[in-house]
Amino acid sequence: MAYKLTETYDPRVSAELEQHVEAILRLLGEDVDREGLLKTPERVSRAMQFLTQGYEQDGVAIIQSALFDAPDNEVVLVKDIELHSLCEHHLLPFSGKAHVAYIPDKKITGLSKIARMVDCFARRLQVQERLTVQIRDCMEEALHPLGVAVVVEASHSCMTMRGACKSGALTTTSAFSGAFLKDHRTRNEFLNLIK
Ligand SMILES: [Zn+2]
Repeated sequence: MAYKLTETYDPRVSAELEQHVEAILRLLGEDVDREGLLKTPERVSRAMQFLTQGYEQDGVAIIQSALFDAPDNEVVLVKDIELHSLCEHHLLPFSGKAHVAYIPDKKITGLSKIARMVDCFARRLQVQERLTVQIRDCMEEALHPLGVAVVVEASHSCMTMRGACKSGALTTTSAFSGAFLKDHRTRNEFLNLIK
């Protein structure tokens, strides 16, 4: 229940957000009564609530909602998990991919659960570094595996649209634990697989 990706909006929060969005539009010099902007406060309010719904979701519960006995201790890798988040410094989007690998001990999880867990941390105000660590720690806590490896590659609108204006610049962050931390061959094997 806590991890369902549904669009539910608290009416009190929605109403207040709409007022503030309207105030921002006025401060930016916009005519809030022109046709194109009439429903903008409502749309922005809903979009912001949708994009931050991860606070209501429990990553460990998502992973543990489908547990199976591990057949062996081979690396499980989910590559190219699409990821969209909001940078907490500018409230602008950053988008990219997450690669998550783990070495099961006793339990494995459903592959789609890993993608949903990534969403639950991405749909919050984030910095990419913390998002990466949260994904690793969630895998650790939910599965107690022999090791976890996470790499996130993302492009930040706050860099590409303003400031440095470096379009195409990718930020890469990583977090490792267990065998991926201790054994450089295991880590290199993972890094080669996601190239
Ligand atoms: Zn930013």
